Amino acid sequence: MNEYKEFYNLLPSTPLKYWLSDIERIINWNLRKERYPQVDEWGKALSQIPNISPNFFDFKNSVSMNGFVEADLEEKLMKFHPWRKGPYFINSIHIDTEWRSDLKWERLAPHIKSLKNKTVLDIGCGNGYHMWRMLGENAKLVVGIDPQPLFIFQFFAIKKIFGNINNIWVLPMRLEDLPNSKNTFDTCFSMGVIYHRKNPNQHIKHIYEILKPGGEVILESLISVNPNNEDIIPINRYAKMRNVWRIPSLESLQNELLNAGFKNIRVVDKTKTKYSEQRKTNWMKFESLEDFLDPNDPNKTIEGYQSPIRAILIGEK
Ligand code: SAH
Repeated sequence: MNEYKEFYNLLPSTPLKYWLSDIERIINWNLRKERYPQVDEWGKALSQIPNISPNFFDFKNSVSMNGFVEADLEEKLMKFHPWRKGPYFINSIHIDTEWRSDLKWERLAPHIKSLKNKTVLDIGCGNGYHMWRMLGENAKLVVGIDPQPLFIFQFFAIKKIFGNINNIWVLPMRLEDLPNSKNTFDTCFSMGVIYHRKNPNQHIKHIYEILKPGGEVILESLISVNPNNEDIIPINRYAKMRNVWRIPSLESLQNELLNAGFKNIRVVDKTKTKYSEQRKTNWMKFESLEDFLDPNDPNKTIEGYQSPIRAILIGEK
């Protein structure tokens, strides 16, 4: 993908210079047409998005911009449906995504170390919504990874509209594919990913390895809440999701962080997901939270498990 040329040029001047030998191969492999036939279509849709130089943008309090925008931009953005993470505000266009990802950001922002001049990794970043908010906190370089190609194209669409800022990049890969990055990042975010990993312990250990000493992890997850601190191991689906292997108790997550070597571990937030945070919209027309819960008892998922509760933990290397 041509969009990454600038990233390869930038790498030698960053702490990620060691990636240069592997990164292009990994990116191309993870976007290969044989595996992801829609890549061509999304590539075409991306080429229709204009490069805009905004007159004004804000990442500190929202992700929004003002600038000259053609009348058909909304239609062009709709080609990247479903939009799950946002919201984005582009003049009067409001990309009203399935998730109000800004609410999660507001819950964690007061608790994290300053991102000013930091090198940050967002693992499972989706289309990169939170990464713009990290730039809003003056991070020096924000890299996100996510294995789903659609989200990569959504990211580049937003990036073109917000003036092609050079220090924010979403790469198509899983954490498992990350080039060797020992002691590299000041802050790592892993939000909404760990319950998708078959080996959650490995996930936490990997994050420990790639953080610099003194670096910080922000770990966000669905959690199970019950008197015995038992994890939920879904037999089949959880809230209709096929790829949820374990919903850990807070105790499990804390122990795993501790065992990996993290110190100063804190739980900074615990929130039950409400319909106002995750819902069907014009920009995400498929099923959403309302369809995932028991219609007779919203405290239960449709499969009979506890309905989604999420927590944010922070630890230091
Ligand atoms: N971090 C965002 C998005 C969470 S959705 C937020 O908190 O709102 C979870 C994302 O993790 C999905 O986009 C999915 O593609 C990605 N993901 C799943 N397995 C992953 C892995 N092994 N490594 C990195 N990302 C992964």
